[in-house]
Amino acid sequence: MSARPFLPFTRPSIDERTIAEVGEVLRSGWITTGPQCQALEDALSERLGGRPVRLVNSGTAALELALRLCGIGPGDEVVTTPLSWVATANVVLAVGATPVFVDAEAATRNIDLDRVEAAITSRTRALMPVDLAGLPVDRDRLHALAGRHGLRVIEDAAQSFGARWGNRAIGSFGDLVSFSFHANKNLTCAEGGCLVLNNEEEARRFEKLRLQGVTRLPDGGMEVEAWGSKANLTDVAAAIGLGQLRQVDGFTARRRALAERYFERWDASLGFELPPGDAAHHGNWHMFQPLLPRRLAARRGDFIAAMRAQGIGVGVHYPAMHLFALFRNRGHARGDFPVAEDIGARTVTLPLFPAMADTDVDRVCAAVTVAAACTALIRGKR
Ligand SMILES: *Cc1c(COP(=O)(O)O)cnc(C)c1O
Repeated sequence: MSARPFLPFTRPSIDERTIAEVGEVLRSGWITTGPQCQALEDALSERLGGRPVRLVNSGTAALELALRLCGIGPGDEVVTTPLSWVATANVVLAVGATPVFVDAEAATRNIDLDRVEAAITSRTRALMPVDLAGLPVDRDRLHALAGRHGLRVIEDAAQSFGARWGNRAIGSFGDLVSFSFHANKNLTCAEGGCLVLNNEEEARRFEKLRLQGVTRLPDGGMEVEAWGSKANLTDVAAAIGLGQLRQVDGFTARRRALAERYFERWDASLGFELPPGDAAHHGNWHMFQPLLPRRLAARRGDFIAAMRAQGIGVGVHYPAMHLFALFRNRGHARGDFPVAEDIGARTVTLPLFPAMADTDVDRVCAAVTVAAACTALIRGKR
């Protein structure tokens, strides 16, 4: 066993200044939605070209309330990818609409835009693409496609904060854009999220959806015209987010350097498929995900155990979600989306987070060589 400390696949970087600022909020007497949330919304909006930004308590809430903002509900269809965190489809079910999956493309592992048109029906209301591992879906093609069909776009950019399309930051253009600030995301509030909106009218409607449908009146009273959720963020969380925002560009640069080192140090003879390269530097390297060689695909659990035995954490993000019982019970079956199924069966998430040292990458690469050999042996024995 390794004497070196366990290396998880990710870990948030919270600096001492942020910890002190969270302490100040806790001592201030105002710990839920207040000035810290306002400051974070303003700072995010400024970063995203002045578009309105509204915080919520999760990326899931941002997506669900975005669907409600668009009036999407029973009888409607939303086109998305099966290769995402299950939240992406769960929110569509939550509003009573139907998620319509389109297979991933092998080159980017994101929704195959060539196949989207064939999935659009008279009931389609929105496209909900996901930037898997922080590699953006082609925004030029996406918005052209949506425009041709008169569809809303709700970008599930949970993983792509800090990524760009061309010279524009993800979130600074488009229609509705949702980010997650979960602990594992590139910018975290522990838990949290936000929606980037088109204008102040939408932002005001979203504020009501976020908190019990309430409109405050000038005389101190209130009105409630329609249902609203309970999804406001706390000032404690927002203080973490403000500290993260100061550092996030440095985080992204560090992630990119670590990813480049993986590409340099990787032993190509092992037969893994490396993640899509990012020559244009669009992505934020939210995750580093090689695909296991096909000969080892059925032994992913053994590979993960062999890595863990060497002190290295490995994640799986994600199995193709149409194969979950929830969606099989809605009529999906193996073979529906072969590209997503193949990627989902072979993907492993290796350590990549800003506090990692260059030598940690070398350590992971060496461990992969050992783990691949062990896994092949185990396979031989069975
Ligand atoms: C994390 C994530 C979400 C959900 O965000 P939460 O803040 O955990 O609710 C949705 N979609 C994708 C692609 C994610 O990675």
